[in-house]
Amino acid sequence: MDIKPETPWDGTPDISARIIVAIGRVSSVMRAGVWEFATAESLNPTQAEILHLLRDRTQGVRLTWLASQLSVSKASASDSVSALVSKGLVRKARAQDDGRASALWLTAQGEVLTEKMSKALSFADDAAAALERKVQEELLIGLFKLIAQLQKGERFPALRACLSCRFFEANRFPGSPAPHHCALVKAPLPISFLRIDCAEHQPTDPVNERQNWEAFA
Ligand code: SF4
Repeated sequence: MDIKPETPWDGTPDISARIIVAIGRVSSVMRAGVWEFATAESLNPTQAEILHLLRDRTQGVRLTWLASQLSVSKASASDSVSALVSKGLVRKARAQDDGRASALWLTAQGEVLTEKMSKALSFADDAAAALERKVQEELLIGLFKLIAQLQKGERFPALRACLSCRFFEANRFPGSPAPHHCALVKAPLPISFLRIDCAEHQPTDPVNERQNWEAFA
Protein backbone atom coordinates (compact mmCIF):
# COMPACT_ATOMS: atom_id res chain seq x y z
CA MET A 1 0.00 0.00 0.00
CA ASP A 2 1.30 3.46 -0.97
CA ILE A 3 1.57 5.79 1.97
CA LYS A 4 1.83 9.40 0.95
CA PRO A 5 4.11 11.50 3.14
CA GLU A 6 2.27 14.22 5.00
CA THR A 7 3.09 17.83 4.14
CA PRO A 8 2.13 21.02 5.95
CA TRP A 9 -0.18 21.83 2.99
CA ASP A 10 -2.29 18.66 2.90
CA GLY A 11 -5.35 20.45 4.32
CA THR A 12 -5.28 23.27 1.78
CA PRO A 13 -8.59 23.49 -0.11
CA ASP A 14 -8.43 23.02 -3.89
CA ILE A 15 -7.68 26.07 -6.03
CA SER A 16 -11.27 25.91 -7.31
CA ALA A 17 -12.63 26.13 -3.76
CA ARG A 18 -10.36 29.05 -2.91
CA ILE A 19 -11.40 30.91 -6.09
CA ILE A 20 -15.05 30.64 -5.06
CA VAL A 21 -14.28 31.73 -1.48
CA ALA A 22 -12.37 34.74 -2.84
CA ILE A 23 -15.23 35.73 -5.17
CA GLY A 24 -17.65 35.35 -2.27
CA ARG A 25 -15.52 37.65 -0.08
CA VAL A 26 -15.33 40.32 -2.79
CA SER A 27 -19.08 40.01 -3.29
CA SER A 28 -19.70 40.42 0.48
CA VAL A 29 -17.61 43.59 0.56
CA MET A 30 -19.52 44.98 -2.42
CA ARG A 31 -22.85 44.07 -0.84
CA ALA A 32 -21.83 45.76 2.41
CA GLY A 33 -21.01 48.89 0.37
CA VAL A 34 -24.45 48.78 -1.27
CA TRP A 35 -26.14 48.35 2.13
CA GLU A 36 -24.21 51.26 3.61
CA PHE A 37 -25.20 53.48 0.69
CA ALA A 38 -28.82 52.30 0.83
CA THR A 39 -29.11 53.04 4.55
CA ALA A 40 -27.69 56.54 4.09
CA GLU A 41 -30.26 57.21 1.32
CA SER A 42 -33.25 55.67 3.18
CA LEU A 43 -33.49 52.80 0.72
CA ASN A 44 -33.46 49.09 1.45
CA PRO A 45 -30.68 46.99 -0.16
CA THR A 46 -33.03 45.52 -2.81
CA GLN A 47 -34.14 49.00 -3.87
CA ALA A 48 -30.49 50.06 -4.19
CA GLU A 49 -29.74 46.95 -6.29
CA ILE A 50 -32.68 47.75 -8.56
CA LEU A 51 -31.38 51.28 -9.16
CA HIS A 52 -27.99 49.79 -9.99
CA LEU A 53 -29.55 47.30 -12.44
CA LEU A 54 -31.54 50.03 -14.20
CA ARG A 55 -28.47 52.16 -14.77
CA ASP A 56 -27.57 52.89 -18.43
CA ARG A 57 -30.62 51.04 -19.75
CA THR A 58 -32.09 52.83 -22.71
CA GLN A 59 -34.59 50.07 -23.53
CA GLY A 60 -36.32 49.81 -20.16
CA VAL A 61 -36.51 46.50 -18.33
CA ARG A 62 -39.26 44.12 -17.34
CA LEU A 63 -40.11 43.26 -13.77
CA THR A 64 -39.56 39.55 -14.45
CA TRP A 65 -36.01 40.22 -15.53
CA LEU A 66 -35.33 42.32 -12.44
CA ALA A 67 -36.65 39.56 -10.18
CA SER A 68 -34.38 36.99 -11.85
CA GLN A 69 -31.32 39.24 -11.50
CA LEU A 70 -32.06 39.76 -7.82
CA SER A 71 -33.00 36.10 -7.22
CA VAL A 72 -36.23 37.22 -5.53
CA SER A 73 -39.89 36.54 -6.33
CA LYS A 74 -41.72 38.77 -8.81
CA ALA A 75 -44.02 39.94 -5.96
CA SER A 76 -41.04 40.99 -3.85
CA ALA A 77 -39.43 42.83 -6.78
CA SER A 78 -42.77 44.50 -7.48
CA ASP A 79 -42.97 45.84 -3.89
CA SER A 80 -39.49 47.34 -4.15
CA VAL A 81 -40.24 48.87 -7.56
CA SER A 82 -43.47 50.42 -6.25
CA ALA A 83 -41.51 52.05 -3.40
CA LEU A 84 -38.97 53.44 -5.90
CA VAL A 85 -41.75 54.77 -8.14
CA SER A 86 -43.35 56.56 -5.18
CA LYS A 87 -39.95 58.08 -4.29
CA GLY A 88 -39.73 59.43 -7.85
CA LEU A 89 -36.62 57.39 -8.68
CA VAL A 90 -38.13 54.94 -11.19
CA ARG A 91 -40.87 55.32 -13.79
CA LYS A 92 -43.09 52.77 -15.45
CA ALA A 93 -44.19 53.03 -19.09
CA ARG A 94 -45.21 50.81 -21.98
CA ALA A 95 -42.42 48.51 -23.16
CA GLN A 96 -41.03 49.63 -26.52
CA ASP A 97 -41.06 46.08 -27.92
CA ASP A 98 -44.52 45.09 -26.64
CA GLY A 99 -47.31 47.65 -26.22
CA ARG A 100 -49.22 45.35 -23.85
CA ALA A 101 -46.33 45.03 -21.39
CA SER A 102 -44.78 47.65 -19.12
CA ALA A 103 -41.11 48.36 -18.55
CA LEU A 104 -39.06 50.32 -16.03
CA TRP A 105 -36.62 53.20 -16.41
CA LEU A 106 -34.72 55.46 -14.04
CA THR A 107 -36.08 58.98 -13.70
CA ALA A 108 -33.65 61.92 -13.87
CA GLN A 109 -33.60 61.88 -10.06
CA GLY A 110 -32.91 58.13 -10.12
CA GLU A 111 -30.00 58.67 -12.51
CA VAL A 112 -28.42 61.22 -10.17
CA LEU A 113 -28.73 58.79 -7.26
CA THR A 114 -27.24 55.84 -9.19
CA GLU A 115 -24.31 58.02 -10.21
CA LYS A 116 -23.80 58.83 -6.54
CA MET A 117 -23.98 55.11 -5.67
CA SER A 118 -21.46 54.30 -8.36
CA LYS A 119 -19.02 56.80 -6.82
CA ALA A 120 -19.64 55.35 -3.35
CA LEU A 121 -18.71 51.87 -4.66
CA SER A 122 -15.74 52.99 -6.73
CA PHE A 123 -13.35 51.59 -4.11
CA ALA A 124 -13.70 48.16 -5.76
CA ASP A 125 -13.05 49.51 -9.24
CA ASP A 126 -10.03 51.41 -7.90
CA ALA A 127 -8.63 48.19 -6.41
CA ALA A 128 -9.04 46.33 -9.73
CA ALA A 129 -7.55 49.26 -11.65
CA ALA A 130 -4.46 49.14 -9.42
CA LEU A 131 -3.59 45.65 -10.73
CA GLU A 132 -1.16 45.26 -13.62
CA ARG A 133 -2.91 45.42 -16.99
CA LYS A 134 -1.95 41.81 -17.78
CA VAL A 135 -3.38 40.59 -14.46
CA GLN A 136 -6.62 42.54 -15.12
CA GLU A 137 -6.98 40.90 -18.55
CA GLU A 138 -6.29 37.39 -17.21
CA LEU A 139 -8.74 37.91 -14.38
CA LEU A 140 -11.44 39.15 -16.75
CA ILE A 141 -10.97 36.20 -19.10
CA GLY A 142 -10.97 33.78 -16.15
CA LEU A 143 -14.22 35.24 -14.84
CA PHE A 144 -15.82 35.03 -18.31
CA LYS A 145 -14.86 31.37 -18.47
CA LEU A 146 -16.27 30.74 -15.00
CA ILE A 147 -19.55 32.45 -15.95
CA ALA A 148 -19.60 30.40 -19.16
CA GLN A 149 -19.38 27.20 -17.08
CA LEU A 150 -22.18 28.41 -14.80
CA GLN A 151 -24.32 29.33 -17.82
CA LYS A 152 -24.18 25.68 -18.93
CA GLY A 153 -26.09 24.74 -15.79
CA GLU A 154 -28.55 27.63 -16.28
CA ARG A 155 -27.85 28.88 -12.76
CA PHE A 156 -26.63 32.27 -13.86
CA PRO A 157 -29.12 35.07 -14.65
CA ALA A 158 -29.04 36.70 -18.08
CA LEU A 159 -26.35 39.33 -18.59
CA ARG A 160 -26.00 42.16 -21.07
CA ALA A 161 -22.76 40.50 -22.13
CA CYS A 162 -21.27 40.21 -25.63
CA LEU A 163 -21.77 36.46 -25.58
CA SER A 164 -25.54 36.87 -25.32
CA CYS A 165 -25.79 39.79 -27.77
CA ARG A 166 -27.24 39.62 -31.25
CA PHE A 167 -24.43 41.84 -32.56
CA PHE A 168 -21.71 39.45 -31.37
CA GLU A 169 -20.05 37.40 -34.12
CA ALA A 170 -17.92 34.69 -32.54
CA ASN A 171 -14.59 33.75 -34.10
CA ARG A 172 -15.02 35.78 -37.25
CA PHE A 173 -11.21 36.18 -37.35
CA PRO A 174 -9.96 32.88 -35.87
CA GLY A 175 -6.41 32.90 -34.53
CA SER A 176 -6.11 36.70 -34.53
CA PRO A 177 -5.60 38.77 -31.34
CA ALA A 178 -9.14 40.11 -31.89
CA PRO A 179 -10.99 36.95 -32.97
CA HIS A 180 -14.56 38.18 -32.48
CA HIS A 181 -16.55 40.99 -34.09
CA CYS A 182 -19.21 43.47 -32.95
CA ALA A 183 -21.65 44.07 -35.79
CA LEU A 184 -23.03 47.17 -34.07
CA VAL A 185 -19.80 49.16 -34.10
CA LYS A 186 -18.45 47.11 -37.03
CA ALA A 187 -15.11 46.40 -35.38
CA PRO A 188 -13.03 43.36 -34.37
CA LEU A 189 -13.42 42.55 -30.69
CA PRO A 190 -10.38 41.39 -28.66
CA ILE A 191 -11.22 39.01 -25.80
CA SER A 192 -9.98 41.56 -23.27
CA PHE A 193 -12.62 44.02 -24.58
CA LEU A 194 -15.61 41.69 -24.24
CA ARG A 195 -18.37 43.43 -22.25
CA ILE A 196 -20.14 41.92 -19.26
CA ASP A 197 -22.68 44.73 -19.12
CA CYS A 198 -23.07 46.72 -22.35
CA ALA A 199 -25.62 49.53 -22.73
CA GLU A 200 -26.12 48.70 -26.44
CA HIS A 201 -26.67 44.99 -25.82
CA GLN A 202 -29.64 43.36 -27.54
CA PRO A 203 -30.39 39.73 -26.70
CA THR A 204 -29.70 37.05 -29.26
CA ASP A 205 -31.74 33.85 -29.54
CA PRO A 206 -31.18 31.23 -26.81
CA VAL A 207 -29.55 28.68 -29.16
CA ASN A 208 -26.95 31.17 -30.40
CA GLU A 209 -26.29 32.38 -26.87
CA ARG A 210 -25.69 28.85 -25.60
CA GLN A 211 -23.33 28.14 -28.48
CA ASN A 212 -21.35 31.32 -27.72
CA TRP A 213 -20.95 30.52 -24.04
CA GLU A 214 -20.08 26.88 -24.75
CA ALA A 215 -17.45 27.90 -27.30
CA PHE A 216 -15.94 30.27 -24.77
CA ALA A 217 -15.84 27.91 -21.77
S1 SF4 B 1 -19.95 45.45 -27.53
FE1 SF4 B 1 -22.11 45.63 -26.89
S2 SF4 B 1 -23.24 45.73 -28.83
FE2 SF4 B 1 -21.20 44.93 -29.34
S3 SF4 B 1 -21.39 42.67 -29.24
FE3 SF4 B 1 -20.73 43.38 -27.22
S4 SF4 B 1 -22.65 43.60 -26.06
FE4 SF4 B 1 -23.19 43.61 -28.24
